[in-house]
Amino acid sequence: MQTQNQHLLQQVADRDDFNIKLVSDSVKMKQAYGSLLSEKHMLQKQLQHINSSLESSKLKITGGEEQMKAYVAQAMKSSSENRHLAISLERTMLELSDTAEKEYKCLRSTAGSAEKEYEINQKKLAELKMELEHERSERRKLEKEYEEVKNEVMELTSENEETTVQKLQDEIKECKAILKCGVCFDRPKEVVITKCFHLFCSPCIQRNLEIRHRKCPGCGTPFGQNDVREVKI
Ligand SMILES: [Zn+2]
Ligand SMILES: [Zn+2]
Repeated sequence: MQTQNQHLLQQVADRDDFNIKLVSDSVKMKQAYGSLLSEKHMLQKQLQHINSSLESSKLKITGGEEQMKAYVAQAMKSSSENRHLAISLERTMLELSDTAEKEYKCLRSTAGSAEKEYEINQKKLAELKMELEHERSERRKLEKEYEEVKNEVMELTSENEETTVQKLQDEIKECKAILKCGVCFDRPKEVVITKCFHLFCSPCIQRNLEIRHRKCPGCGTPFGQNDVREVKI
């Protein structure tokens, strides 16, 4: 009986211990529950925050997508424009190339004709040079001939001059002979013998009269003092 009581007491004590343990567990559980609850609140807040940021991110993404679409559309437009530009550029380049080729051909033909003209001009120039040389030699010949003729003319002129001078001197002599007294050949004729009209200087006739050789020295005609007259030449 005693053992049985002891056993029951032991059981009661165990049950008390168990109860105490349960109470402490319950307290612990409550504490844990509170902390978990606060943690839950915190997590809910975080979740709300995350949700709101997720919403804003979604909005941003939507905006970004729209922007992207706009960019894509713009890019496509730009690409088509670029294609158009490339086509027109290619066409322009082709046109330019065509024009340049035509111009090049034109220039080449012009250059060719200019070259031909240059050759022709060179030939003409050579001909003209030859003509000029010919003309020069002709001119030299003519100059030489002219010099010769000039020399001849000068010789002839000097000869003529000499002849003329000689003639003039002869004439002067003749004139002197006519004007000067035929006796002394020194003084001019001043008087005339009226018998024969011969003229002499006065001193020669006076000497004739003084030495009584009263005959004209020119023709021998006798004359007297009264036959002698002064003349004015
Ligand atoms: Zn005389
Ligand atoms: Zn006389």
